[in-house]
Amino acid sequence: MYYNVSQLLKESVGSTRTYEVSGSLTLEGSEATLAPRGRVSMMRTDRGIWVDVGVDVQSQATCSRCLERFTHSSKLVMGEEYVPTVDLTTGRPLDARSVDEGVFTIDHRHCLDLREALEEYTITNQPMKPLCSEACGGLCSVCGARRDAGGCGVCQEGPAHSGLGALVGLLGRAGR
Ligand SMILES: [Zn+2]
Ligand SMILES: [Zn+2]
Repeated sequence: MYYNVSQLLKESVGSTRTYEVSGSLTLEGSEATLAPRGRVSMMRTDRGIWVDVGVDVQSQATCSRCLERFTHSSKLVMGEEYVPTVDLTTGRPLDARSVDEGVFTIDHRHCLDLREALEEYTITNQPMKPLCSEACGGLCSVCGARRDAGGCGVCQEGPAHSGLGALVGLLGRAGR
């Protein structure tokens, strides 16, 4: 996710490159890992390089109901301009004031690192309460086991307080 763009920076405005994105990265401050797959296209602008990314991201998340770890698949689309921090011909650092705060930058080796932007976009796109599935029944409030539509299969507690729920509970117990 690290691209040397010195060639592209030497070309005229409108020149493009396309790369494949693969590999994985670990999100800072969490054990979540991301595995983006897809394409990145770059275009020389008058200021720097415009980067368009469209990737499928597999990330690890914890279900907010049952607390089980699961793989969350999402689509990440972003468009950002990266600006150089050193002068291409002299290698001298550019005046920091000419680089806006919060803008993505190309480092002193003319490399563009997608990692930071991918992390930022993934974090802002993450659901506040991730669910392993919409139908996730969460945890049984009595025994703490994972429960499905028929209850936890251990106690009779559960969303289904019907005769069927109790029967499922009994069957679950008998099967142990
Ligand atoms: Zn769940
Ligand atoms: Zn239970």
